[in-house]
Amino acid sequence: MKLIADTHCHTVASTHAYSTILENVAAAKEKGLKYIAVTDHTGVMPGAPGCWYFQNLMVVPREIDGVKILKGIESNVLGPSGRIDIPEFNERGGLDWVIASIHEIAWSGAKTLENCTKAWLNVAKNPVVNVIGHSGLVNFKYDYEQVIPIFKENHKLIEINASSFVIRRGCYDNCKKIAEICKKCEAPVIVNSDCHFAADVGRFDPAIKLLEEINFPENLIINSNIDSFESYLKNYTGFFK
Ligand SMILES: [Zn+2]
Ligand SMILES: [Zn+2]
Repeated sequence: MKLIADTHCHTVASTHAYSTILENVAAAKEKGLKYIAVTDHTGVMPGAPGCWYFQNLMVVPREIDGVKILKGIESNVLGPSGRIDIPEFNERGGLDWVIASIHEIAWSGAKTLENCTKAWLNVAKNPVVNVIGHSGLVNFKYDYEQVIPIFKENHKLIEINASSFVIRRGCYDNCKKIAEICKKCEAPVIVNSDCHFAADVGRFDPAIKLLEEINFPENLIINSNIDSFESYLKNYTGFFK
């Protein structure tokens, strides 16, 4: 399977990632990707850049060397309220692409199934969020059967994160379960690398392997097809405006 976009990529601005935007773009071009998203960490993540960094992403061109660039963010889900820490300089923070992820360090509240379910149901209602980031975390299980149809209803893309199988130990079974429910209720997913080094841009293999194991329909993988990806961008982001 050939994917055309990697929409979860970190840069040196995250301070625990090691490549620049230009290095990521060059890697994306080499791998034949048409789109890349710059999605650095925010808020209380150690060393995360401040709001000026995200605000000033406007200076980065929309396209470099034939690769289109979505200016994005990987925001933190802060607790059961589902509130995310996106800079508030306009509705979408001036950004094209918003990932909402749970990171232990930024979460307040008990890590119960009830709290996590509540958090994701609230995130689903947030119109600025595009992607539900690496939600198969072992310590943050939620009621997949209840929440995934609500993600679908609210046009959230459920991420199958290729790094999860390497750095988030033990989450394979949860990710598989999530993918199976997405297949059952025809909820679109997006496969991302979550790279922290340019060589890993477009490295989707473990996620694709999981999807192939369960015969996941390609037409539900939004970044497997330029038309479906661009139609999502037109309908649910400001990228073409
Ligand atoms: Zn993350
Ligand atoms: Zn990330």
